[in-house]
Amino acid sequence: MRHDRYLRHSLIDWFPQDRVRAARVAVIGAGAVGNEVVKNLALLGAGAIDVYDFDRVELHNLTRAVFLRESDVGRPKASALAARAGEVDPAVVLRAVEGDFWNTLSLSALAGYDCAIAAVDNFEARVRLNRMCRIDGVDFISAGIDSRHATVEVFPFAAEATCGCYECHLPNSAYKRIAERYSCGGLRKAAAAERLVPTTAITASIAGALATSAALRLGRDAGGGARRVFFDTIAGTSSVAALDRRAECVGCGDLGDRPRIVPARADWNRRIADVPADSAVHTSDPIIVGYECAQCGDASRADRYVLRRALDFDDRIAICAACGKAGVRVDVRDEFAAAELARLYPEAPPPVKFAIARLPDEALCMDFEEKHDGQRAR
Ligand SMILES: [Zn+2]
Ligand SMILES: [Zn+2]
Repeated sequence: MRHDRYLRHSLIDWFPQDRVRAARVAVIGAGAVGNEVVKNLALLGAGAIDVYDFDRVELHNLTRAVFLRESDVGRPKASALAARAGEVDPAVVLRAVEGDFWNTLSLSALAGYDCAIAAVDNFEARVRLNRMCRIDGVDFISAGIDSRHATVEVFPFAAEATCGCYECHLPNSAYKRIAERYSCGGLRKAAAAERLVPTTAITASIAGALATSAALRLGRDAGGGARRVFFDTIAGTSSVAALDRRAECVGCGDLGDRPRIVPARADWNRRIADVPADSAVHTSDPIIVGYECAQCGDASRADRYVLRRALDFDDRIAICAACGKAGVRVDVRDEFAAAELARLYPEAPPPVKFAIARLPDEALCMDFEEKHDGQRAR
């Protein structure tokens, strides 16, 4: 019986069991922190938890992932985690989504969540999820750990559309780290070394607890500004810092108060025609706009790559098929004038998730992933 199950919570005068029970949370990452977050959400009786991960379970995950077992090695992490976490409380609905969230989570689906939690191990995924949450006005929590520290950043976009975003205070070193995964042409490096950050169950559990508490706003009202909690698990000290918005931020500087989101896949031509010709349009993904060998001038394979998403290839396409040298100049861009984009894509929209057009009074988000099924009504 639900009432008996949550008896102890009901004795806490500030514990919002009804809100927790209604909560829909997206957890991105089914690793150490993701396991802890899902464990806490399930124990607290959260309504629905969707777990997104593209990876498979490896033996070395098992020292930090409470729900994973040796028999799960080789299975998709999201499914393994969701299956076992579902045993905690049958009333909690768990769903696993395998694959990279950038390909599996649309803006309209994200808008159906109360909160998204980044429990990932890289800056790029955090930057992407931050931008999606900022556009949608969905609360975003970023949880990160190393061997000693837990960092949890809270961005209450639902209540405060223009609070600081994850990128407002992101240091240059983080962008350098992201850039390490790309060649100078902007293509993903096929042989990029994965950076392994040593972590333990101690930092994972602290980060998971702080992230869950923030996600469900336990003991808090909505809003409260963007903030960072930093916890040193050896010294036992913690600090909280406010994260103000920065006007020049590359993550939110062009988004205005809250972008107007329009579905633009079916009626791309009309949507882009409505945007003033010289308006800057920023695509969610870089696009290949040029492909020519700087050594021999061969461009005969350009139509295989040009106007497609750079993400779908890696730097091996920079090896020229005609002369065999790694000399192909691959031009990759994510900034266009509206008229240029309309000319490059005369029929279907560009092959990206969305594009932001900066209009004189507002930012317009053209959403190219269909599925506008009314989930947005919250
Ligand atoms: Zn920002
Ligand atoms: Zn060549």
